Amino acid sequence: MQKVKDILFLILIGIAVYLAYNSDFFSETTEYRKDNKLVDTTSFKIYFIDVGEADSILVKDKEQFSLIDTGNNEDGPKLVNYFKELGITRFKYIICTHPHEDHIGGMDDIIRNFDVEHIYMPDVQTDYKTYTEIVDLVKSKNMTIEVPEIDSTFTMNDSMFNVLWISNSEEEINDDSIVLKLNYKNTSFIFTGDATKNVELKILDKDLKCDVLKLGHHGSSDASSAQFLEKTKPLYGIISVGKDNEYGHPHDITLKKLNYLNTKIYRTDLDGTILLTSDGENIMFETIKTDTNG
Ligand SMILES: [Zn+2]
Repeated sequence: MQKVKDILFLILIGIAVYLAYNSDFFSETTEYRKDNKLVDTTSFKIYFIDVGEADSILVKDKEQFSLIDTGNNEDGPKLVNYFKELGITRFKYIICTHPHEDHIGGMDDIIRNFDVEHIYMPDVQTDYKTYTEIVDLVKSKNMTIEVPEIDSTFTMNDSMFNVLWISNSEEEINDDSIVLKLNYKNTSFIFTGDATKNVELKILDKDLKCDVLKLGHHGSSDASSAQFLEKTKPLYGIISVGKDNEYGHPHDITLKKLNYLNTKIYRTDLDGTILLTSDGENIMFETIKTDTNG
């Protein structure tokens, strides 16, 4: 009888070991080591990185990473360090919403330090030094800048970007911004670059309902129209903005509109880097104090 018990015990141990190594049941906590760093290869996260009066948003879907905007010129080396800390070696997509310095400034450092599969940018040529340097660097690496079309989609592991807007002929370069909706299972996110009300009113017929809205143009009053906010009805509003910036961003009226809609506001000037995690149904927020603002 003891022998039968021993054999049963061994079988149970065997099943437990098999489950531990093979079952999806344990995959939520799976991490692997790369360059001696723990790399989380399971979760879906979005980092609204504190880069002062600028934008830089990192999207992580399991082991894949994409970046929307790259901060100001001086943010480049800081972003490179931060991304290396996170164990990143490669970006699937780098999306530069529009060629203003506070959105493409760190791009050259990113291209020099990481593998990049796709670079998306509106077809807007400017003679800003930051922009022309990036164009030269991209050419020297035998890469091309791709221009996505409105309503086109591109995917990461379990998430999909949808291009709501892009242009090259608006009066203001801000309004040429690539505007994206990202869906991850039952959660959704809209990123507006610096697009203003002019663009918001042109895309009102799109599927705009979202959980999280990165507000246009750093919370300026020239973006975030009442009509657009009514359509997006975000539970959470993110404002990427510099402390005591010279433009008075975010504007009081923008904050009042969000309060009226009961939208919970996160701001990089007050909260630092804003990190959200989605399990496909629920979204959780953490804020990480940083010294990078401004
Ligand atoms: Zn901007």
